[in-house]
Amino acid sequence: HLFTGRDVPWLVDERARTRPDNVFLVWEPFDGPSRSWTFAEFARETAAYAAGLAAWGICKGDFVAIHLDNCPEFLFAWYGCSRLGAVAVTTNTRSTRDELGYFLEHSGAIAAITQPRYLDLVRTSAPQIERVACIGDDAGEAVAAPPGAGAVAFETLRGDPEAAPRRAPEPLLANSVQYTSGTTSRPKGVVWTHANALWSGRTTTAHAGLTEQDVHLVHLPLFHTAALGYSMLGTLWSGGTAVLMPRFSASRFWDVAVRHRCTWTFALGFHLRALGSLPAPENHCFAFWLAGGDLSLVRERWGIKTIGWYGMTETIAQTITYSRTLVGREFSMGLPAAEYENAIRRSDGSEVAFGETGHLWVRGIAGISLFQAYLHNPEATAAAFDPQGWFSTGDLVTPQDDGFVFFASRDKDMLKVGGENVAAIEIESVIAQVPGVIEVAVVGRPDPVYDEVPVACIVAAEPGAALECEIMDACRLKLSKFKQPRQVMFLAELPKGLLDKVLKRELRAHVLTLDAVTG
Ligand code: ATP
Ligand code: MG
Repeated sequence: HLFTGRDVPWLVDERARTRPDNVFLVWEPFDGPSRSWTFAEFARETAAYAAGLAAWGICKGDFVAIHLDNCPEFLFAWYGCSRLGAVAVTTNTRSTRDELGYFLEHSGAIAAITQPRYLDLVRTSAPQIERVACIGDDAGEAVAAPPGAGAVAFETLRGDPEAAPRRAPEPLLANSVQYTSGTTSRPKGVVWTHANALWSGRTTTAHAGLTEQDVHLVHLPLFHTAALGYSMLGTLWSGGTAVLMPRFSASRFWDVAVRHRCTWTFALGFHLRALGSLPAPENHCFAFWLAGGDLSLVRERWGIKTIGWYGMTETIAQTITYSRTLVGREFSMGLPAAEYENAIRRSDGSEVAFGETGHLWVRGIAGISLFQAYLHNPEATAAAFDPQGWFSTGDLVTPQDDGFVFFASRDKDMLKVGGENVAAIEIESVIAQVPGVIEVAVVGRPDPVYDEVPVACIVAAEPGAALECEIMDACRLKLSKFKQPRQVMFLAELPKGLLDKVLKRELRAHVLTLDAVTG
């Protein structure tokens, strides 16, 4: 197949061989000068850490947790593990002790690499972790602090790059585990093989039309597939440059983008709210932004093209997307990608007609273009596939007659009101139009008569009775009676997961507690 005799270290070495002096990685810390690594330097760094990790006792097949905010060491560790045949498990740094404990125990990680700010958390949340390495200038101090036992400074693991073992490539060997965002249920560990990782880079490159001239601004967390796969592997595959920020910062965004002549980045609703309506500097070089959701404002405010993309941790790359050269339905997710089979079906299994909403199923090659299994979770794996190997995305989408596909809703984000199915998003899009509403999320509240009734949770600059009246007026005008919210609740903020997604599970629970309090 496509990746016979190839693995992730092959790609790193290949770029170092063909473009040794091109800059691959630029690090833009908030509190110091920027640094950069060419492809040759990056390959050397990953080989040096592979040698050091091996000397530290990490072997092929071992699981190594990486609990880090964005920093170059994240990549040295991830690609270092890859070179050894070890499996890098990346974890959300916003995790609570319980959540992190779950990730570490569930994955069976035997070692963890972290930063001083998370060191105590990592040490105390999973007893089976035998080794901990801590990065950063103040790591020495943090490592020496009690409980102390077993932690080393990450930099001391840097070994002799010439001593790094080079194994024969095994494309179907497990390479990494990324946990899903946990929007609908407890995060599931998605195992990526080496071939999956290569596929992510290759397919993102093809879909977005990336070239070695492209400079990508990375501000999403590296522990999420979008950054690790689309951003980093896409950049590596295409031979371009990635400019890495510790996290998104509205006050630094344009400055970094202009200085490094960035040509593309990711944008989500949160980033637009943070960037506000400030004009873009005239000398920016953005050709396009990958946009999750309707980001018409990007074009209105800054004149930048947006490209829709649809994918999940499980699908490795985008299964529905939009090319940077395509003109047309910009606010759809795009067209079904030729590399996958996409099917949009009714609940009886038949295919929907144009304009009709159905459940999206995706088929690809397990272990190459699609994931093969959830880690240590055969039940979830079995439930995700039908007997013909189609993967159930859990998303409802609508195809139009020109081929473009629009996101409708998550299937779990439907309310059942008196026997009718109501998509929360339908009510949300009406309320979002009301001036003064900053954010809205609709959830169902159990009801003895109707099973569920809609409750609208609103973030607003000026919450109060006047705004509530306007919201209800808008709903009465545009929605049938059973879809109109039974209650409007003003909240200071909505509970959010990764990539700005509202955690409806938490919001539902929150609505119930508030109800209990207020009677
Ligand atoms: P979990 O599976 O743990 O509930 P998650 O599904 O949010 O979390 P990810 O794999 O990070 O975890 O996200 C994939 C989901 O993101 C998709 O199933 C879809 O619901 C949503 N998504 C992806 N692309 C788009 C898009 N272009 N527009 C709207 N939603 C999207
Ligand atoms: Mg999911």
